[in-house]
Amino acid sequence: MDARRCLRVCHAMMLWMIIWLLAVALGAGACSSGAAPTTPSPTPVLGVAPFAGTIFIDPDIITESDPTTFLLLSAGGQGARTMFDRRVNDWITVNAYLFDARFDDGLMVEVQVNPEFGATDLAQAEAEKYAVVIGRLPTALRRNVKTVWIHEGVQPFGGGNNNLLIHVGQADLYTRDGILEETLVHEASHTSLDASHATAPGWLAAQSADNVFISTYAQDFPMREDVAESVVPYLAVRCRADRISVSLRDTILNTIPNRIAYLDALMLDLHPIK
Ligand SMILES: [Zn+2]
Repeated sequence: MDARRCLRVCHAMMLWMIIWLLAVALGAGACSSGAAPTTPSPTPVLGVAPFAGTIFIDPDIITESDPTTFLLLSAGGQGARTMFDRRVNDWITVNAYLFDARFDDGLMVEVQVNPEFGATDLAQAEAEKYAVVIGRLPTALRRNVKTVWIHEGVQPFGGGNNNLLIHVGQADLYTRDGILEETLVHEASHTSLDASHATAPGWLAAQSADNVFISTYAQDFPMREDVAESVVPYLAVRCRADRISVSLRDTILNTIPNRIAYLDALMLDLHPIK
């Protein structure tokens, strides 16, 4: 190897050495960041919920003019019953007025009225009043309702516990706003649908596919409120399209199409609505 050729080879070797050192330095720089470079995967941005809560979307989904499945009430005297009372935010055991309410689909509930109403006939009037309203709810939503608690007071209703919880002061406000039945649809959905569906894989898949909640209430409590918040809109589009605005119908259909398909597939018994 002559001296000139050696110089060219040496220059070439030095060039490769510099490139290698630069590559090592850049590699070290990447490692020093503490994270291996990854391809960013796009996270779908959750859509904006169109409503705050769905019991308010339209008061005409079920009205007091709609048929009821309620047939008759039988008085059962008084007996010790443990009921939840939101005024004390606790369970209470009282000597409740008891009534069996029967419905035309064979379902029956025991209505337990707080003794604070003071007399059997007054308690019976309350029991019958709400049995008529509850009878307007679809069979599928009453199926797991075994008891109804009725108290005085302005406190939120409740569902679950095989029960519907009613505070009559709040019921008067819901009645004034025309949403007593819609509210009970929500609560009865907790009672009769949550256990089987609120965390079911198919329901969670529908949540993901829709990628938006029908209300901020459902969004805030996705495992607890999403089914109940979806059922009133479901009844609105499937049974009451003629009573709601086109824009409300389109908003519901465009927001939760996968939840609606899930509920369709359940083939819910919607008597006496449909
Ligand atoms: Zn709820």
